[in-house]
Amino acid sequence: MKSGKYTILVLLIFLIIGLTAPLLSTPFNPNFSSDLSKKPTNETTNVAVEKEENGYDTKASDLFYGVVRKVSEIRGYEPDVPLKIVTRDWVVKKWGSSSIDEESLKDGEVFYKSLLLVPSDFSFKVRKNKEVGGFMAFYWENKIYVVKENFDPDSENAGEVLAHELEHVIQDMYFSIKHDRSFDGDKAYGAIVEGDAVLMGWLYAGKKIDEEVKKTNSSINCNVEPNKGYGKYEGNLNFLYFFPYTFGTKFIAKAYLKGGYKAVDEILRNPPVTTEQILHPEKRNEGFEEVKVDEDDYGFLMADLKDFRLIKDTRMGEFFLYVFLSTHLTDCYSFNAAEGWAGDNLKIFRKGNEFVFYWKILFDDENEATEFQEALERMLNKVASKQGGLWTTKSDFVDERIKFERNGREIFIAGYGKI
Ligand SMILES: [Zn+2]
Repeated sequence: MKSGKYTILVLLIFLIIGLTAPLLSTPFNPNFSSDLSKKPTNETTNVAVEKEENGYDTKASDLFYGVVRKVSEIRGYEPDVPLKIVTRDWVVKKWGSSSIDEESLKDGEVFYKSLLLVPSDFSFKVRKNKEVGGFMAFYWENKIYVVKENFDPDSENAGEVLAHELEHVIQDMYFSIKHDRSFDGDKAYGAIVEGDAVLMGWLYAGKKIDEEVKKTNSSINCNVEPNKGYGKYEGNLNFLYFFPYTFGTKFIAKAYLKGGYKAVDEILRNPPVTTEQILHPEKRNEGFEEVKVDEDDYGFLMADLKDFRLIKDTRMGEFFLYVFLSTHLTDCYSFNAAEGWAGDNLKIFRKGNEFVFYWKILFDDENEATEFQEALERMLNKVASKQGGLWTTKSDFVDERIKFERNGREIFIAGYGKI
């Protein structure tokens, strides 16, 4: 099991790195474009670089410029970027929960709690600080940063980590990868840029790509439960974040094995737009249908949304739908139930601690909708008790009432409650 553990370790490191791109641009708006090339540069002059200890800076810098040379050779593109060394303190101050206003923290908490991804005692604040405190290296505003306490230039994978970040620089300098700013589109974008960056790390480290792909934890079958649920390690949230590194890496690495960097560059120039396309490369040309929750739909649960603020309005996509189900049900069953996804729209409103969500999901055909409906009912019966047409959540979760209706190949779910 040695190799399995190692893979997880590497993925964890990349997970932390990968979080930085979207997080650093706008930490609490997953719909925001993380196209870093478009960000204004506001160079901070007070970067807290401590006095050089044991030649750390020299070591890091020597390693960095060696990796730059090798990456340029492998890739045929030259990443032109300086290296900055910062401390964990600096990163946490800049992007930790203390840098985020209370209202935005509540919005984040409502998102996870209303969709029953986490139990009622989950703290979004704690989760954020954990993520930010774990940053090892990242690319942001035309510089590569390494975090002194987390990045050891003497460690075996230090070069691979830098090669990964340098590929992000190449993406920024030579490609302009865009996405539609939806949750789904952002995940698909993440899969492409992180998959490509992981590939570079592997090539730099001289790893065998086909063997690495085999080790990637992205196959869903009934013997494996990649989604570990909402327990105390927040396995399901990690699984969501892992998506770019697991499924994205598999997607990119397979293209590379077939057609080398020519095939990868074609994907970077014309990237998939949905997580469905990443999950099922054979659906590469299948788009999605526009779905919209509109004002006529609001009465399904709450007639009066006065003083409620819209905090989320987005397309969640097939991968999220699968995570939503598999947080409470088995993975292969959930995966199959989510597979018929053809489009969706989630809207969440909040007033103080109260929230309402509306989620309209369209499926390819009625059979697919039926399959999802069965899974949804099974899930609701597990996490809530049914009275009349309403499900009331059990005590693990926030106090919430949920109901749904079925219209042909469309399923409309709504819930209201309090965090
Ligand atoms: Zn990355």
